[in-house]
Amino acid sequence: MSDTRLGHPLYRDMPPTIFEKMSARARETGAINLGQGFPDTNGPEDILQAAADALLTRSNQYPPSGGLPELRAAVAAHYALHQGLDLAAEEVIVTSGATEALAASLLALVQPGDEVLVFAPLYDAYLPLIERAGGVARVVRLTPPDWRITRAVLESAVTDRTRVLLLNNPLNPAAVMLCEEDLALLAELCVRHDLIAICDEVWEHVTFDGGRHRPLIALPNMRDRTVKIGSAGKIFSVTGWKVGWMCAAPALATLLARAHQFLTFTTPPNLQWAVAEGLAKPAEWFDTMRAGYEASRDRLAIGLRRAGYVVQPGAATWFVTVDLIASGLALDDVAFCERIIEEAGVAAIPVSAFYPADPVTHLVRLCFSKADIVLDEAVARLAAFRLAHDGRRG
Ligand code: PMP
Ligand code: GLN
Repeated sequence: MSDTRLGHPLYRDMPPTIFEKMSARARETGAINLGQGFPDTNGPEDILQAAADALLTRSNQYPPSGGLPELRAAVAAHYALHQGLDLAAEEVIVTSGATEALAASLLALVQPGDEVLVFAPLYDAYLPLIERAGGVARVVRLTPPDWRITRAVLESAVTDRTRVLLLNNPLNPAAVMLCEEDLALLAELCVRHDLIAICDEVWEHVTFDGGRHRPLIALPNMRDRTVKIGSAGKIFSVTGWKVGWMCAAPALATLLARAHQFLTFTTPPNLQWAVAEGLAKPAEWFDTMRAGYEASRDRLAIGLRRAGYVVQPGAATWFVTVDLIASGLALDDVAFCERIIEEAGVAAIPVSAFYPADPVTHLVRLCFSKADIVLDEAVARLAAFRLAHDGRRG
């Protein structure tokens, strides 16, 4: 078979994702992995136990394609309690992670030639999924330190072919939450141009300093035109479980369910049972989870600041970003990540990897969902790197 005909051109020269690449490098070199976002704990004991019990005592055969009724009801009840939403269980479709929900939403809602409005920095799956769905991405570039959206830029990006807005909020890797003003701007845009919003809200519960996530679906006139995507991986610190969901009004939910039934059809039932149990935990449980990660964020940020790095405070997610220019380091993000994995034994993610064009190159993302001693050791290594680097320059 000739190479030029092998497979879809999109995938032929596509490298593995930056997360896969950095985690592989960390494994090979033994570096502390603050790159790909995952906790170094195994997840909450009682939720693991619920999954183990369900595996042994409940059905291991195909659950309904839309998800176990108990989990669909638990997601709806959870959002009623935590975000004041009025979703019915039938408006929730369970997926194999947020990634599948994104794929199903884009496949269901994008027709060939449709334009999809997205913001860079963008999560790596977005562009290939949009393209495979036949869509054309219109990328609006956001920049630090405030990552704000402006009406003028939005209006210039929307055309009469734009059908979908794909939004990640809280935003990975910037670690910010959109302010009320920007959300209102987006809602207004969707209504005026008759867009459907696909909202990737996997970080909705991992918010700090008393800040709370505000879902776009709750804004005026957005209830019937929004797909809200969530993931148990982030809420319960079990990124390998890949239990997610997409919520939308009935007309949209039916379409999404059809796309989902021919992607994965369903998701392991024991994990669905355990997540249903987890979502019903009292509100204090989620506060405690947030407080734990907030302490880790502060530990890493304070340590790095003491070591001479300028760190952007994160309002959400498991990430902080180091500003290389403000830190006085004459390296771009890719060079810095290369150097610290080789010389300091710490893996990180260059923020430029989240830009398809015209990247921001002076920010590096570090993941803090790790044990204190791991964070302390990473800080010590980065402090030594900084000293050696300054010494060589001075
Ligand atoms: N969207 C964003 C913004 C993410 O950061 C991630 C992973 N952290 C995902 C989607 C994927 O979620 P899942 O593992 O549930 O597929
Ligand atoms: N969402 C994770 C991150 O931002 C990566 C998940 C993945 O590797 N697919 O680090």
